[in-house]
Amino acid sequence: MSKKALINIAACKGCGFCVDVCPKQALSLSAEFNPAGYNYAVIDEKACIGCGTCYTVCPDYVYTMVEE
Ligand code: SF4
Ligand code: SF4
Repeated sequence: MSKKALINIAACKGCGFCVDVCPKQALSLSAEFNPAGYNYAVIDEKACIGCGTCYTVCPDYVYTMVEE
């Protein structure tokens, strides 16, 4: 079993903290806006290794770590 990060894009404030710390460069900010008007984080699921760093740093609890 390995883990993956899921993103609740509606909760994202587009701060970019997670993008900066992902060790696999699996995260970026979307060109689209979420309903709150922020460029939300998007994940390259193939690149994600489930390390949980994004989950740890996000100040808005956008991430959930799930078993896959
Ligand atoms: S779980 Fe780790 S590898 Fe996956 S997106 Fe978050 S920081 Fe990047
Ligand atoms: S750290 Fe959280 S609020 Fe900031 S861009 Fe990443 S998911 Fe969005």
